[in-house]
Amino acid sequence: MARLDLDGKEIAPITICLIGGAGFIGSHLCELLMAHTHHSAIVIDVSSDKITHLLEKSCSWSNRIEFHKINIKNDSRLETLIKSSDLTINLAAICTPADYNTRPLDTIYSNFLDAIPVVKYCTESNKRLIHFSTCEVYGKTIGSFLPADHSLRQDPNFYILKEDVSPCIFGPLEKQRWSYACAKQMIERLIYAEGDEHGLKFTIVRPFNWIGPRMDFIPGIDGPTEGVPRVLACFSNNLLRGEPLKLVDGGKSQRTFCYIKDAIEAVLLMIENPERANGQIFNVGNPNNEVTMRQLAQLMIEVYGKISVGSSDLTTVDVSSKDFYGVGYDDSDKRIPDMTIINRQLGWNPKTPLQDLLEVTLTYQHQTYSQSIKKALSNPTY
Ligand code: NAD
Ligand code: UDP
Repeated sequence: MARLDLDGKEIAPITICLIGGAGFIGSHLCELLMAHTHHSAIVIDVSSDKITHLLEKSCSWSNRIEFHKINIKNDSRLETLIKSSDLTINLAAICTPADYNTRPLDTIYSNFLDAIPVVKYCTESNKRLIHFSTCEVYGKTIGSFLPADHSLRQDPNFYILKEDVSPCIFGPLEKQRWSYACAKQMIERLIYAEGDEHGLKFTIVRPFNWIGPRMDFIPGIDGPTEGVPRVLACFSNNLLRGEPLKLVDGGKSQRTFCYIKDAIEAVLLMIENPERANGQIFNVGNPNNEVTMRQLAQLMIEVYGKISVGSSDLTTVDVSSKDFYGVGYDDSDKRIPDMTIINRQLGWNPKTPLQDLLEVTLTYQHQTYSQSIKKALSNPTY
């Protein structure tokens, strides 16, 4: 049966160039594209590890997906691949906070300079671009500058983040945490200006803490021993190893977590409804799933206790951001997405409560890593 867009028109199959398409989000998007659509994917990344299961010759979609091991910093094949696709989705980035203050140059190059040719090739060839930015472009909330007991802190106008209204509030230069947000903001502005002056057909996506299976890595197992992934993988690593979950600066910062499977449904709507998505900037998150990092840790301990018997007595420990991330770290205090625009344009809403998405994700983490962790713990040289 033909698939229809939101306006009842038949969706024609297209070829999509997914840059950084073998990372966490890209791998889920490729799965959805292969299993539920007739679109073709040209995947560009430096590694195919997270999509090897989609590249098997035996898969029914094997003629619709190809992988190109390319570093977009220095490979002339990029231009040809973008220009031979109907749509480019750029996901490539350094996007783990531990890198922002310790590798600020790599962070700025990756999130701003390396993305410029992608934008240029799309403009030159009149091809659509869906660019992955971040909710971090909002930085800190306006309310965070009010005294702690000020009543306006409870007023949504002081903390809800709206694409077309909220300012971008970053810390001073010495707080290099903001190198990422600033680079992402600059590429957003470049894309917006290309749309304005040269007619580039673009969509900007601002993900709000999408989480789920295959996110990042477990240090010492499928990533560097000293590496610091995002909070889901940090806390998973602590749970798997039976050690206290580390709360940075008291674990008081707040996040809204969105299940990856819900989020990629929003991206598919953008792909298949260009008239509704072009020229838009979309918050994509789950405003109903807000927790402090302390609450997240407690919930993960509780959920993991049901999955791995005997692990429910785990605790948390406070660490300073300087000890955990080094100098120059700073934090977003609170991130609640306003959903008006994505609702109006695409009718999308997130579905999965935090408890449910943690159950699925921690079951995956346990099944994928617990044996290797056991082996590593019983033999420290492993
Ligand atoms: P990820 O690190 O899993 O994926 C990024 C992919 O880009 C990786 O596979 C990496 O190998 C690839 N890549 C990086 N530099 C490259 C280069 N020079 N050449 C080729 N490939 C390169 O991260 P993710 O969570 O999937 O995020 C994807 C995008 O979404 C990023 O732009 C990120 O900033 C944005 N984002 C994600 C979240 C989230 O909740 N996961 C939140 C905010 C923003
Ligand atoms: N965090 C924490 N313990 C950890 C890792 C992260 O308390 O082991 C905190 C971090 O300081 C931030 C929040 O968790 O306040 C979310 O961090 P993440 O790395 O997922 O990325 P962010 O949402 O800041 O982009």
